[in-house]
Amino acid sequence: MSIAATTDSGLLISDPALRGIADRVTAGERLSIEDGMILFQTSDIWGVCALADRVRRSLHDDIVYYNINRHMNYSNVCALSCRFCEFYRKKDDPGAYTHDLDHIREEARKAIASGATEMHIVGGLNPYLPFDYYTDMLRAIREAAPGLHIKAFTAVEIVHFAKIAKQFKRDDRTAGIRWVLEQLKAAGLGSLPGGGAEVFDDRVHDDAFKGKIRSDVWLDVHRVAHELGLNTNATILYGHIEERRERLVHMDMLRTAQDTALARIGYEADASGAITLTRAGVELPTPDMCGDGPGQGGYFQTIIPLPFIPDGSDLENLPGPTGLENLRTLAVARLMLDNFPHVKAFWIMQTLKMAQLMLQSGADDIDGTVVWYDITKVDVADTHQECTVLDLQRAIREAGFTPVERDTLYRRVER
Ligand code: SF4
Repeated sequence: MSIAATTDSGLLISDPALRGIADRVTAGERLSIEDGMILFQTSDIWGVCALADRVRRSLHDDIVYYNINRHMNYSNVCALSCRFCEFYRKKDDPGAYTHDLDHIREEARKAIASGATEMHIVGGLNPYLPFDYYTDMLRAIREAAPGLHIKAFTAVEIVHFAKIAKQFKRDDRTAGIRWVLEQLKAAGLGSLPGGGAEVFDDRVHDDAFKGKIRSDVWLDVHRVAHELGLNTNATILYGHIEERRERLVHMDMLRTAQDTALARIGYEADASGAITLTRAGVELPTPDMCGDGPGQGGYFQTIIPLPFIPDGSDLENLPGPTGLENLRTLAVARLMLDNFPHVKAFWIMQTLKMAQLMLQSGADDIDGTVVWYDITKVDVADTHQECTVLDLQRAIREAGFTPVERDTLYRRVER
């Protein structure tokens, strides 16, 4: 039986293997993939959560962010058939839809009327829509709701757009990606969400989502977006056919990409070559660093761990991750991704009850009020597709934190 002991950093942990990691985390040093394996394998899950909580408090004190947003899926028609996906339909399937611009304008007006500051837009890889549909969509939202921040399109969609616009060249894929992002930015795109990353591993990719872009292309899209001054998020979809080590490799690739983004806006690496935000005295990046001028650029704002939900997918024979695995994966993400400012407990896939525990285990963001989310959700009674502001504030306060409304770029919203 192990006896809980306090480390030099003042944390109560029972597994001696965690003590060295705790000291390195407190010193703001980057953890290795082997450290990550210890975090995943230790029986002292509460020690891992306490350590992640220590980091989130050093970055954000007792603040938890939420926003008022509206999700819109413009079409569920998709050229691909990823095995974990229950969202897509083929054109003539029952339930297939594609929204026209009038519908989209109406959604934007409803978003503003409900107090939203953000519209989050993603859809399937619809092979029947021209590229103009997307720029027209952004302009229509701009006209209907000028104050709304448009966070739209996964990296997978961006590459699809480059192909349908006949701009994608295999020998210089960055050029087509840049062209698409420039057009979308000019039409009103404000930032990119983080979807489509899944797990950066070729074995997992080929088995579970063959046909989708691989990790190098996903990272290219986000790098170019950062170069153009657009902030982005990142996700990891875990708990299906991947191994825990593959999750850690994914996190390592993300933080390397973030090192590049932060170096562009003036952050300096430590002696090991890493740029961490967890070292004493290092300030978090702010939206005024975001732009395409000298010394400016975009960066990853948030990592969003997404649990695989088997129901209705081609992989529904798999059990999906347990509650403790969800909690641990989020805590490990906070500890490994030392250069990501924010970690989100995405309540609509985690449930609001689990999100409260996650706030105590590394998360500083609970996402938003969300009015419609059609991609993947837990299909049980306690995951309504909409939470009121009061629901979110209550959940945050009960977890012991102070709720702060943010906009998409993490600026405080005063009402
Ligand atoms: S995950 Fe995305 S790309 Fe894959 S089938 Fe679903 S909608 Fe299409």
